[in-house]
Amino acid sequence: MDIKEIVQSVFDRTKGIEDKGKLASYIPELKNVDPDSFGVHISTTNHLNFGVGNYHDKFSIQSIVKVLSLAMAYSLLGEDLWHRVKVEPSGTAFNSLVQLEVENGIPRNPFINAGALVVTDVLLSNLNNPQQDFLDFLKNLSKSNSIAYSNKITASEKKVGYRNAALCNFLKSFHNIDNDPTDVLDFYYKMCSIEMSCEELSQLFLFLANGGCTLHKNSRIITRSQTKRINALMQTCGFYDESGDFAFRVGLPGKSGVGGGIVAVHPKEYAIAVWSPPLNQKGNSYKGMRFLEEFTTRTELSIF
Ligand code: GLN
Repeated sequence: MDIKEIVQSVFDRTKGIEDKGKLASYIPELKNVDPDSFGVHISTTNHLNFGVGNYHDKFSIQSIVKVLSLAMAYSLLGEDLWHRVKVEPSGTAFNSLVQLEVENGIPRNPFINAGALVVTDVLLSNLNNPQQDFLDFLKNLSKSNSIAYSNKITASEKKVGYRNAALCNFLKSFHNIDNDPTDVLDFYYKMCSIEMSCEELSQLFLFLANGGCTLHKNSRIITRSQTKRINALMQTCGFYDESGDFAFRVGLPGKSGVGGGIVAVHPKEYAIAVWSPPLNQKGNSYKGMRFLEEFTTRTELSIF
């Protein structure tokens, strides 16, 4: 089996299908992107790197960053983190408020917005220079030196962030946010605004396929057990109320973002990133899902 040939052929087929997705419009700046952009990049633990289409282009990674903020908070706080956020699938949309009231302000998992806001609060409380320290954490994970926040996207989301503001204030009323909600929201928007390419993303996420160590420098980021747990959370919660469907179709731990990116990890084998901006009704890339489904079916490289 030649992985490159399969990536290329699944890419060509997926490019040709009718895209039933729609660009995210609730963050105005995310509409300023070419809806026909489509890129894929795979990085394997035995050092294969291969990309097709727009795999060099940077895009807004949005909720994909929640995996990375979680990895950093987990490395700082260890198991105490789970007093603040649970590890159960929510079965609700990424920005849902409904479960918080009955569950006393403890979010179901770190990948829905409520959980990611709590993780952001943990980072704010534990870092001296949160923005710089987080960027340094990513740069240590990555081979690339050009990862940056986008001020434009941060400002665009902040202007319309009524729902996240509601979530953050609601969490604060349950004493599950220690910092000023405005500071938590600002840092959360900043992290979501980070721009990366498929190539940078698949290389960066390799540490989750490599037992918690970066492949290029062999530096340990999180423990093996923490790695197992983050992969488990991506498997069960990475796609909100489409997590079951993603497991069913693709069969890999993964995480999506409303910028149209998806990253998926096969422990011990590879990380793959796909980007196609139009989203399905659950807020996940339409073509990204289709590509990954056919890719893992053809290669039989899913965890199931
Ligand atoms: N920044 C976005 C939000 O909070 C992230 C959502 C996503 O990518 N699913 O709404």
